[in-house]
Amino acid sequence: MRLSRFFLPILKENPKEAEIVSHRLMLRSAMVRQQSAGIYSWLPLGKRVLDKVCKIVREEQNRAGAIELLMPTLQSAELWQESGRYDDYGKEMLRIKDRQDRAMLYGPTNEEMITDIFRSYIKSYKHLPLNLYHIQLKFRDEIRPRFGTMRSREFLMKDAYSFDLTKEGAIHSYNKMFAAYLRTFSRLGLRAIPMRADTGPIGGNHSHEFIILAETGESEVFCHKDFVNFDIPGDNTDFDDVPALQAIFDKWTSAYAATSEMHDAAEFDAIPEGDRLSARGIEVGHIFYFGTKYSEPMGAKVLGPDGKEHTVHMGSYGIGPTRLVPAIIEASHDENGIIWPRSVAPFDAMIINMKSGDAACDEASLRIYESLANAGKDILLDDTDERAGSKFATADLIGVPDQIIVGPRSVASGEVELKDRKTGERQTLTIEAAINKLI
Ligand code: ATP
Ligand code: MG
Ligand code: MG
Ligand code: MG
Repeated sequence: MRLSRFFLPILKENPKEAEIVSHRLMLRSAMVRQQSAGIYSWLPLGKRVLDKVCKIVREEQNRAGAIELLMPTLQSAELWQESGRYDDYGKEMLRIKDRQDRAMLYGPTNEEMITDIFRSYIKSYKHLPLNLYHIQLKFRDEIRPRFGTMRSREFLMKDAYSFDLTKEGAIHSYNKMFAAYLRTFSRLGLRAIPMRADTGPIGGNHSHEFIILAETGESEVFCHKDFVNFDIPGDNTDFDDVPALQAIFDKWTSAYAATSEMHDAAEFDAIPEGDRLSARGIEVGHIFYFGTKYSEPMGAKVLGPDGKEHTVHMGSYGIGPTRLVPAIIEASHDENGIIWPRSVAPFDAMIINMKSGDAACDEASLRIYESLANAGKDILLDDTDERAGSKFATADLIGVPDQIIVGPRSVASGEVELKDRKTGERQTLTIEAAINKLI
């Protein structure tokens, strides 16, 4: 992508409304634009990052055996009357009337709809276990939308729903998502800690929130320091291996970790003082086992091997991609801007042509650009006629991992400078060597 043809309306000034660093940096780098309170457009730079986050979420869901579908944002109130949640959900639910005066709502979550899909097609235990997910917009009329897309009213959620014949089966399905979440957050460059959690309006009795420790987090959390060293399940994790997955769950729940709603001060105080972590955190994911809470009232039953009808056991599993993007920035930035983990960076590398219009600089920039692009890399070429200083500032602000600086003096001797955004290290290399290094 050539910057001169891209859409990157960088803000020079710090936006006054932004209270936390991720919000400030997302507005300054034109990743998102607020359209009304808590409702955002994702501009091209932000959309690239969001897509990469969703790709990792999707890959790990698929690896764990979940199957993707897509449900609508608008739902009929009838389904929610069946489960009894239509009246319970309260003001966070946006209720809408269509032209026939039918009660509709903008879905804040999809337990009812997926249970309806399930009961319409699945009649036998032979199709179980089943886990269906989608990545779709949700709407919750948050009383206090704030911090940009961290707490917005319309937001993207990956929500998965599992169906099993028995409680034991459902616990295995839960453990699969538990392990998939550990892998997902780790691939996003984050260390998320699973904490015993309250189940809120989703309901149920077995639940974990995945929390990123951050000073700007809205949750108050308590945990053992050991979590920093626990191993993430590897690429070779066998999601069908029941004892292996139970062992991952047992390890990751062996130390104390709870949100304030579930906090047990006596248990926490029993941990040696130096090992206690009392901090703030951001909830990036939340998983629930809730048994037959929806399948019972909505009649989601299958024939078991015993020839009898069984109400299925369910769980649901949420991740917020539009919250993850600012959470990653909270965890990875400096005074000059964002430092993207490679896995979600909007571009792999950025070429800074310090003197656009200079034949040698233009020629070298283009040569590097084409070599890297042909090798399948996502490259941003700054070919604008901004001053070099302003180009450097933009590159640091948008946080692309590798910068290739093409200046008239070095190009004259066939060289360019390579800068690592994270460490700030610079090295001078021949053009060939720079290309080879980044391929
Ligand atoms: P919170 O406690 O922050 O209000 P929640 O517990 O209501 O979140 P869940 O119902 O557990 O949220 O939804 C699953 C995931 O969806 C959350 O873990 C979070 O990543 C994301 N999410 C929830 N609400 C929002 C929001 N208002 N803006 C952005 N992401 C959200
Ligand atoms: Mg909430
Ligand atoms: Mg919560
Ligand atoms: Mg939650």
